[in-house]
Order: sequence, then structure tokens, then C-alpha cells
Amino acid sequence: MKIKDLLQKETLIFSFEIFPPMRDGDITELFTTIKELVKVDPNFISVTYGAGGSTQDMTFEIASRIKNHVETEVLTHLTCVQATEKEILEILDHLERENIRNILALRGDPPKGEHTFTKIDGGFGYANELVEFIRAHGDFSIGVAGYPEGHVEAPDIDTDIQNLKKKVDAGADFIITQLFFNNDDFYRFRDKAVSKGITVPIIPGIFPIFNFKQIAKIASLCGAAIPKSLFDQLSAVSDRSDEVARRGIDHAIRQSEDLLGNDIPGLHFYSMNKSNHVTHIIRQLNIDRKVHYESEKRITGGTV
Ligand SMILES: Cc1cc2nc3c(=O)[nH]c(=O)nc-3n(C[C@H](O)[C@H](O)[C@H](O)COP(=O)(O)OP(=O)(O)OC[C@H]3O[C@@H](n4cnc5c(N)ncnc54)[C@H](O)[C@@H]3O)c2cc1C
Repeated sequence: MKIKDLLQKETLIFSFEIFPPMRDGDITELFTTIKELVKVDPNFISVTYGAGGSTQDMTFEIASRIKNHVETEVLTHLTCVQATEKEILEILDHLERENIRNILALRGDPPKGEHTFTKIDGGFGYANELVEFIRAHGDFSIGVAGYPEGHVEAPDIDTDIQNLKKKVDAGADFIITQLFFNNDDFYRFRDKAVSKGITVPIIPGIFPIFNFKQIAKIASLCGAAIPKSLFDQLSAVSDRSDEVARRGIDHAIRQSEDLLGNDIPGLHFYSMNKSNHVTHIIRQLNIDRKVHYESEKRITGGTV
């Protein structure tokens, strides 16, 4: 089902993000995780594209298996990185053949060591161009990325939201946000987006911290600020991994509870390819929808 339709049908949706294993990695372990994730009945699972050294073809292989062998909807990420219009067209044809109907359209990051993204000949410079192209060449529900604290390259949040509006005007159906730890950042961002005329659903992205080393990585990769109170709580137990995870997950639960009381269309969890943290959060939240906890999802088609 298209996520656009899901958002109209369900009062609240929730989803998990996974990433393909590194180059030459084995996806068996990932599908063990996916089997655990689907036990709490997410509305969809999103699969990242080319991020963190993973191969791009693997994104589509994993997305196709989730869609066609695991009874769960899928959102495949797609970036403009090193891709011409012709190549994107081939990808769209492939996705349609694989019965994949949802795409998160992204520009992607500049290559390692470079600070600016350079458009290649015959390619796309910004995500709004990719959205427009997908809309013109296929029957997909399209999501785009939003940044509650502003994108790292944007001069200010207002300019970034104007650019977000370009993606919506080009045909995006929904927005999934970058991770954030302070809900006020999300509420301010949403208010500004609405005041700029953005009316599509904005789904907050939640990252449960379960490892102290992740904190430095988060700041360097996406610039999300960790509130001092949370940082102090985690650094006080930095040498006890189980306690860091307990406190990080507890923060994600409290953050989600607050969001649930503030008119969100859904929650998107960055799983980091681990099932226990995010499924625990879903069970704690007791989300009021047709959740079949522990429902035995039938996995068909042999090894998935
Ligand atoms: C939910 C989510 C999922 C992600 N998944 C992946 C993934 O799978 N793979 C991956 O490689 N990366 C992923 N990313 C990271 C993303 O690729 C980077 O953040 C990237 O730097 C920007 O992508 P974008 O689609 O937001 O770009 P854009 O929307 O194109 O924005 C990039 C920058 O350009 C500005 N801008 C946008 N449009 C215009 C315009 N028309 N004119 C002038 N300036 C403009 C924006 O303000 C922003 O500063 C994800 C991010 C999020 C939030």
C-alpha cells in the first residue's frame, strides 16, 4: 500500500529504518532482525540507500524481499548521488516491477572529504528535482527528509524550510524528519513549516541512544544537539553499557509519549539494525491502533 494512503487510513502509523550491511555483507542476520521487527506490526520498514558504505543494489534487494516475502510495506530510500536521469529511470522501472510503491527521495551527502554536493552531468542537484522526476515518471508515493534543527548546509532554518516547501510543491506526499532529542525543536520546525504552507504529514524521526560512542557520531554526522540534561545522564554511566542503553531508551520513550500527545501522524524509529530497543519502545508506548503484538508474521519464500 502507498504510504500516502496509509496516512489517510490510519490514525497513527509507526515505522522502522534499517540499513543494508556493508559491502559483501550477509543479509541473513539482517532478516533475523526484520523478523523480530515485524512482530510488533510496523506500518512500514524503510531501507537506506548507499549510506555508510553499503551497496545500493542491496537496498533494492532487501526492500523487495520485505515487500514480497515478509508481509510488511516498504519504503526504499533513493539519492541523487552519482545518478543520471537515465539511471534513475531504470531504477524506477525496476522498483515498479518489484511491486515497490514508496520512495524516500533524497539528494544524499557530498562524497567523503568534500563539503559540497556537485551535480553530475545529466543528474540532479537537489532532492526537489528528484521528486519532480519521480512524480513525472512513475506511480509512487514519495517522502522527503525534513530537518527540525535545519540542514547542516543551510544558512538558517527559514531558508531550509523554504527549500523543504520546494520538495512538497514538486510532489512529496509526506516528510520524515532527521533525528532530534528535544521535542521543542520539532514543534518549532512543524509550526514554521505549516506557516510556510506545508500541509503534508510530518513524521518525527526518533533515535534511541543505546551506546555512548553514538553521541559523538550523531553530532558529527547530522548536527543534532543532545540536550545537556540527557548528555549528563548518559555520561554519568558511560562505562556501563546496559545503563547507557536503559537511559537512552527511556529518553526515546518519554520523547515519543510527548509527541503522541501532540498531534503527530506517526513515529519513525532509527533501529540501527537492532530489534530489541525499538520493539521494547513500541510495547511500552502501547500505541492505540490495531497492533497484533507477537502476531506470527508468515515469512514466505524460503530464506529471506
Ligand atoms: C529521514 C532521512 C533519511 C535519510 N536517508 C538517507 C539514505 O538512505 N542515504 C543517504 O545517503 N542519505 C540519507 N539521508 C541524509 C541526506 O541524504 C542528507 O541529509 C543530505 O545532505 C541532504 O539530503 P536532502 O534530500 O535533505 O537534500 P535537499 O533537500 O536537496 O537539501 C540539501 C541542502 O540544499 C538546500 N536546498 C534544497 N533544495 C534547494 C534548492 N532547490 N535550491 C537551493 N538550495 C536547496 C537545503 O536547504 C539543504 O541545505 C537521510 C536523511 C533523513 C532525514
